[in-house]
Order: sequence, then C-alpha cells, then structure tokens
Amino acid sequence: MAQEKYDVIVIGGGPGGYVAAIRCAQLGLKTACVEGRETLGGTCLNVGCIPSKALLHASHQLHEAEHNFAAMGLKGKAPSVDWKQMLAYKDDVVGQNTKGIEFLFKKNKVDWIKGWASIPAAGEVKVGTDYYYTKNIVLASGSEPASIPGVEIDEKVVVSSTGALSLAKVPRSMVVIGAGVIGLEMGSVYARLGTRVTVVEFLDHITPGMDAEVQKGLQRILKKQGLTFVLGAAVQSVDAKKTKATVHYKLRKDESEASVDADVVLVATGRKPFTEGLGLDALGLEMTKRGQVASKNGQTSVPGIWAIGDVTEGPMLAHKAEDEGMMVAEKIAGQAGHVNYDVIPGVIYTTPEVASVGKTEAELKEAGTAYKVGKFSFMGNGRAKAVFQGEGFVKILADKQTDRILGVHIIGPAAGELIHEACVAMEFGAAAEDLARTCHAHPTFSEAVREAALACGDGAIHA
Ligand code: NAD
Repeated sequence: MAQEKYDVIVIGGGPGGYVAAIRCAQLGLKTACVEGRETLGGTCLNVGCIPSKALLHASHQLHEAEHNFAAMGLKGKAPSVDWKQMLAYKDDVVGQNTKGIEFLFKKNKVDWIKGWASIPAAGEVKVGTDYYYTKNIVLASGSEPASIPGVEIDEKVVVSSTGALSLAKVPRSMVVIGAGVIGLEMGSVYARLGTRVTVVEFLDHITPGMDAEVQKGLQRILKKQGLTFVLGAAVQSVDAKKTKATVHYKLRKDESEASVDADVVLVATGRKPFTEGLGLDALGLEMTKRGQVASKNGQTSVPGIWAIGDVTEGPMLAHKAEDEGMMVAEKIAGQAGHVNYDVIPGVIYTTPEVASVGKTEAELKEAGTAYKVGKFSFMGNGRAKAVFQGEGFVKILADKQTDRILGVHIIGPAAGELIHEACVAMEFGAAAEDLARTCHAHPTFSEAVREAALACGDGAIHA
C-alpha cells in the first residue's frame, strides 16, 4: 500500500489539472496528478477541442477543394472522403497531444497516479486501495455532457460530442439539439462532409451570450453553408430506433408540435460538472445550485482544497481552466496568483471563425455604459478576399468618453487568433486609438482589427 506524501495532488489531468500540476512542480512543490483515463489531457485533448479541430480542418480542406479550387485554377476531381482514414488522422493528432502531456509530466517530475481518486478527508486522496497524503488538493475533475429530459444518449444513434467524434460512418442526415459551440462546430463538420444538418435550438437565436450582431451574422453564413435552423423550439423527446431517430419539439411561439427525422442526433445542450465518486458530500464542500464546487479565486469552502475549470463556476473553457490552474499553483506556492475574468476570449472554430472578448452591446446597454462602435468588414481586407473569406467583420466597442476598449467581436478568417490582439490591449487598459496608431503589417487579417479601431475615431481607411 503506497503512502506517499505530497505538497499538491491534482485530481484530473485535463487542461486545468495538467497545467496546475506542471506549474506547481515548476514552483518547487512535490506534485502528483491523478487521472483515470488511459491518456492525459482530459476532455479537451481526448474527446473535445483537439479532435474536433482535426475534423474541422479536414472537412474544411474538402470544402476548399469542392468550392474554391477550380476558381484558383486547380483542376481535377474533388477528393472523396475516406472516413476511416479521417478518423485515424484525428486519433493520431489526439495521440501526439496526449503523449506530449505525459512527456511534460516526466520533464517536470509530476507523478501521474493512474486511477480514479476519492477524497476521504482534506489532505488525503485514495486511488484504488492506495492512500496518498498531501497539503493541498486541487479539484480539476472537469465536466460531462448534460442531456435533457426525454433524451437518452446511446453514443450510436443519439450521441454526445464524444460519440459525434467517432461515428461509424458519415450520416446522411443529422439533427443537432442546441445551437451552442459544440452544435455549430460539429454541425459544420458534418455539413461539409455532405450530411443534411438541422439545428434545433430553444432560444430565438444561436450562440447564447454572444453579441447579437455576431449571432445573426454567423447564422446567415452557416445557413448559406447548408445548415438548417429551427429556432425557438424546445426539444421534448427523441425516439431512437436502431439506425434512425425522430426528434420531437414544440415551437415556443404557438406551442405547436413538430418532428424531424435523422440518422444521427447530436445532443449539444451543455455540460455539467463531473464530481462522481469523489466523495465531496462527506467533505461538506459548499456547492452551487448548478452542482458546481463553489470557489473564490480557486479556494473552496474547505481549507487546503482548491477547485478549477469546469467543475467550478465560470465559463466551461479549456483556457479559463488553464489560467485558474496557474493561479492556484501560484497561490499554493505563496505567490499572488490571479485570473482576470473580464478578459477571457471565446472562440467558435467554424469557417469563418467567431471570436469575442469583453462586453457585448447588450451588456453595455444594460449597465448604462455610454459606448461607441467601430466596425470594419472583411470585404475591405485584401488578404481575406484573396482566400475567399471576405465575409464577416471586426467590431470594437469602446467607452464613449475615454475610448477604452470594452469589448471586441469578430466573425472572420483566423478570428480566434486575431482576438488576442484585443485581449492584450484590454489587459493593458488600451484605448481604441492605441490599436489604431499601432503599425500593422500589410497584407494581414489583423489590419481589419486596426481598421475597426480607426472606425472608433475619425474613420477606417478602406471602408
Ligand atoms: P452551450 O451551452 O454552448 O449550448 C447549448 C444550447 O442548447 C443552448 O443554446 C441552449 O439554448 C440549447 N438547448 C438547451 N436545451 C434545449 C432543448 N430542450 N431544445 C433545444 N435546444 C436546447 O453548450 P454546448 O455547445 O453543449 O457546449 C458545452 C460547453 O462546452 C460550453 O460551455 C462550451 O463553451 C464548451 N465548448 C467550448 C468550445 C470552444 O470554446 N470552441 C467548443 C466546444 C465546447
């Protein structure tokens, strides 16, 4: 029976947990990370961000071949899809990344304790029959797909994002329940591969929480790409047969009922914290109404137990978890440790990408903040037009009096990269004029950010 002593034991090897563990080790703390999955990396690397990006990349290449190659003088038959090979490519990408974390653990001398952990008491972690003793426990157990009443996930016909990443074949038709990030990213993958995709969403708009102009713009673009949207529709139940399913929904405006059939149904209605088997009840940890471990700057209600990432409050985003991992590690090591929750970007990896940071117009209106809008369309960006991506815009919201940047919302090529220019600017408390006066290389997509900043002042040049 092992009885090792640690400064920190991190429970969960996803982006929150592995980053926390590595940073703890770098700060001189004796650290272990407990992970029960066969590979490190959690949902993000194994069945989330990374595999979906591989499939988005592959299906985007097909789209390019089918729609844009001929226009560029690239002739020949468009490639056909070898689904098995596409999945093998995706699995290879996952493998490279998960192995990479294993390497980083070795390099930083983080012990990987394999198995599922429970916490008999603060300062104690049990894995299998072994007990480990530690000054600090970091809960980083993540989240799992949340279904809705009347819908049972079998991961074959009715799938979560996990099943959607490994379907036996490309379905002819798919119903996606929920027009959030997962629904739109996976819906895009299959629509590009030839699947007839219908997205059924409860709200009257897609991507809850995003800026209204982005919601409308993205919906229009995705519709052009072949996705069908049924909005304001509450899914009531799904009847699943062996190879087909029927999704029943009620339209909220008139309570009328309707249904839609598909080969596969993807349930993308959100995720819930994963705390099963940890024994949190007995510890008396304060929880939120939504089943999250309550925490303030990573500190839970029990001294010596910390919580980061999807298991605690805040947006369920890998990078938010990573930042909290570093914050908690630094706090444990006696440093300041800090996350600026006002500057956490959100990205949707459709084509074009969507990215957002800071306040939306609706939020500023509600807060009674006087603001100005600087907007620039990618139609005025030479580089974007050269790569068939002249759709979308950069929108900067700046304080009317001080010009300080309050929010940035982008639909366009590489939006997920461009947004970081805004993030850095906001961390430094920059004004739109600061961006506008910064020399931007030509021709780049980034020039659109500068033009939007110029539009907050005397006007953009290429609009
Ligand atoms: P989400 O919360 O983003 O979207 C769920 C959608 O389902 C909402 O629009 C909601 O209104 C709708 N819905 C709920 N019940 C419904 C019903 N009965 N009928 C019809 N629609 C219904 O959730 P998600 O897309 O499942 O993603 C889960 C989490 O994972 C999110 O927190 C997301 O941020 C995160 N994630 C992020 C990324 C990324 O950053 N690129 C990618 C994937 C997942």
